[in-house]
Amino acid sequence: MTEQSRCWVGGEWIVPIGKEVAVMSPSDVTQEIGVMHYAGVDVARQAVEAAHQAKKAWASLTGAARGQYLFQTAAIMEQQLDEIAMLASLEMGKPITEMRGEVMRGVNILRYYAGEGVRANGSVIPSNESGVLQYTKKVSLGVVAVITPWNFPVAIPIWKMAPALISGNTIVWKPAEIASLTASRVAQAFADAQLPAGVLNLVVGKGSVIGNALVSEMDIDALSFTGSTATGQGIAAQCARRNVKYQTEMGGKNAAVVLRDANMERAVSAIVSGAFRSAGQKCTATSRIIVEREISEQLTEALQKAITDLYIGSAINPQSYLGPVASKAQYETVDKYVQRARSHAIVLAEGKPQVDPAQGHYVMPMLVSGVSSDDPLVMEEIFGPVATLLTVNDIDEAISMCNKSIYGLTASVFTQNLSSAFRFLDEAEAGMVRVNQETAGVEYQSPFGGMKLSSSHTREQGQAALDFYTQTKTCAIAF
Ligand code: NAD
Repeated sequence: MTEQSRCWVGGEWIVPIGKEVAVMSPSDVTQEIGVMHYAGVDVARQAVEAAHQAKKAWASLTGAARGQYLFQTAAIMEQQLDEIAMLASLEMGKPITEMRGEVMRGVNILRYYAGEGVRANGSVIPSNESGVLQYTKKVSLGVVAVITPWNFPVAIPIWKMAPALISGNTIVWKPAEIASLTASRVAQAFADAQLPAGVLNLVVGKGSVIGNALVSEMDIDALSFTGSTATGQGIAAQCARRNVKYQTEMGGKNAAVVLRDANMERAVSAIVSGAFRSAGQKCTATSRIIVEREISEQLTEALQKAITDLYIGSAINPQSYLGPVASKAQYETVDKYVQRARSHAIVLAEGKPQVDPAQGHYVMPMLVSGVSSDDPLVMEEIFGPVATLLTVNDIDEAISMCNKSIYGLTASVFTQNLSSAFRFLDEAEAGMVRVNQETAGVEYQSPFGGMKLSSSHTREQGQAALDFYTQTKTCAIAF
């Protein structure tokens, strides 16, 4: 397979002339799957202009008409599901079975928001004067810059772009460098659905160049970003200075709390999935496992067995539960934590590969313990398949350990006790709190986002996304 990244600007496909990089599969670093062409700031500028030119006509369409384009894109993506999933698996290493699920999630999100074009979006407010009708309506923001990470190369862009588009905005999308081939395919689905020129523009390039230019100097009306906390905080500061409406979804250090009355089988399967699917590269991944002392040994043994049984192989092998991490840079970052675990912690379990790990960027799933609650393994986002087990005496200690984090994205508790469940739902400092469910996997029709340094306090997905991509206009008519 040889793909090339392209930019889509004002309805035209462009292959920018400039730096080219061969894209190698993280599952097999000798396999070239395509070529990425970095665009320069000039292309981003053209894209912003094209988005401005298209915005009036797009916002003037009825919601139903805008929705038809989303329905059409969904149908095309569903037809191409296997192809898109395969390309993404090859490009960033997510196992093919998971990747198919992700593309289907993208299709469902498109359909969900397509329907929003004909739903109520304002309210009537009684006036203090007679003969006055006072109401609100939600109107578009204008040109929205969308900056996305590589770990959900299809679903995250779509959960930003679908609500932005149905709300009447036009878009300039800057995907992560290592998901650029997939991004070009996703944009192609919108192009094949005959989305009018300039409504969606794709600019493939470096975050520090294209992303930074969009945020710092381009004429944008809003920005939606998902990525690391360090980058997100910088972006937030720049947007605040320019009074650009922004949304930053960032890192996590999510805890799964296992109480003594938990259904052990259920807890183990949810923890293994939360910690190790996508090789732990989810903002919602389970990274800390907090267990009551009484059942710590039992849980450890069950997790050890489950981890040893995991199938670790190439991302395109349908049997693989875990593939490689996404890139060399990602491998090096995660490996620092693996080395720390080996030197400062007790390694309770480590997976065994079914491939030659030297073939790609493979990190074995690892369960560690024996570190203090302020060790980097416990405090920092690893974004890889390494989870730390922490033992506590009771639910009080479990909750305070869970909340001892600068992040607050998701948290889970495993218990059969209703009081414990409700207490955790009330006291866990996280935007998404779950009982007897893994930390990852929040459904697309529900608000998604975090507390503390995980998010800029807005929410994505569901109806909440429509709040971000619109502004309220208050109208009054005397008659
Ligand atoms: P990243 O911050 O390195 O990059 C994210 C995006 O920002 C990329 O498109 C990148 O090119 C761009 N970028 C980089 N520097 C920029 C700059 N100076 N100005 C503008 N744009 C810039 O993150 P990543 O490595 O791609 O993704 C991993 C991170 O994303 C993890 O921390 C993870 O927790 C987080 N994440 C969060 C969520 C969530 O919803 N909270 C979801 C997925 C991933």
